[in-house]
Amino acid sequence: MKILISDAFDPSLPDRLKKFGEVTEDKGQLSTIEVVLIRSKTKCTQEYIDSAPALKMIIRGGVGLDNVDQPYAKSRGIKVFNTAAASSVAVAELACAHLIAIPNRLIEGHVTMSAGKWDKKQLKRTELFKKTLGLLGIGRIGTEVAIRAKAFGMHVIAYDKYVQKSDHAKLLPLDDMVAQADFISIHTPLTDETKAMVNTALIAKMKDGVIIVNTGRGKVINDADVVAALASGKLRAYGTDVWESDPPPDTSPLLKAPNVFMTPHIGASSKENLLRIGDIIIEILEEHYSG
Ligand code: NAD
Repeated sequence: MKILISDAFDPSLPDRLKKFGEVTEDKGQLSTIEVVLIRSKTKCTQEYIDSAPALKMIIRGGVGLDNVDQPYAKSRGIKVFNTAAASSVAVAELACAHLIAIPNRLIEGHVTMSAGKWDKKQLKRTELFKKTLGLLGIGRIGTEVAIRAKAFGMHVIAYDKYVQKSDHAKLLPLDDMVAQADFISIHTPLTDETKAMVNTALIAKMKDGVIIVNTGRGKVINDADVVAALASGKLRAYGTDVWESDPPPDTSPLLKAPNVFMTPHIGASSKENLLRIGDIIIEILEEHYSG
C-alpha cells in the first residue's frame, strides 16, 4: 500500500505507518497513491480525486469533511473517513481559552504593556461566573465546552436542530437561546443550513454587548454582518479560530475590525490531539488492511 501524508500530522506518524507499506510526503506522487491522509489544507475536489487513479481511501485527521467531495469520492468507490472523536477536548479547550481571554482582557493587557503603556484603569474585566453561555450546536465539542463552562459557574443553554436532550445544557429554540446568552460559542458543522446563520437578523435578537466565539467553521457567520455589529457595539467582541478560507484573504474585513481576537485554525492542533489522530488513523488502516 502506498500512503501520502498530505498535510501536517504528528512527526511520529510516517514511522508508525511504515508497517502498512510505502509512506511519502511527496505530493508529486499522487497518481500512484492508494491512501491519502489530509487535515484542512488539502482539498479533495473532483479534480484532485481524478488525478489519483489508484486512490482507495481518504482519511481526514479531524472532524469536518467539508474539504472532501464525498459524493464524487463515493461514486469512484473511494472510502472516506475522519477521526471525529479525537479532537473534541482540544477544540473545546481552545474555545474556552477564547471565552476566558476576551472578558479578562488578556490580549489587550499584553499588547498595551508591550507598547510601553499601563492601561490598568481602562482594562475593566468581566467575570464568567453566573453569566449565561449559549452553545450553537451541542455535539461532541459543544458538550465538552458546556462541562468546562459549568466549572466556571456559568449557566449553559444550547440550540441544536438535531439534538433533543442534553445532560449538560438547557436546550432552547434558537431565538430564545441567542436572546438569553451573554456569550455564544459556535460548534456546528458548515452545511447549507448553517452557512451564514449568524447574520444581521440573528445578531439583532442577541443581547447588546454579547461576545461570540467561533471554533466551528468561519462560514457559519456572515463576516460583513459581524464586522458591522462590532462597529456598532451590538457585538462586544468576536473570538475566532476559523475563517472563510485558511488563511483568510488580506481583504477579509475581520482582520482589521475592532475587538476581533484571532487564532489561525489551531483548534485541533494540540500535541496530544495530533497523537490521538495518529492512533485513530492506524486503527482505521488496521481494520481495513489487516493481513
Ligand atoms: P458533532 O457532529 O458532534 O456536533 C455538531 C452539532 O451541530 C451536532 O449536534 C448537530 O446536530 C449540530 N447541528 C448541525 N446542524 C445544525 C443546525 N442547522 N443548527 C443547529 N445545530 C446543528 O461535531 P463536533 O465534533 O462537535 O464538531 C463540530 C464542528 O467543529 C465540526 O463540524 C467542525 O466544523 C468544527 N471543528 C473545528 C476545529 C478547529 O480546529 N477549530 C476542529 C474540529 C472541529
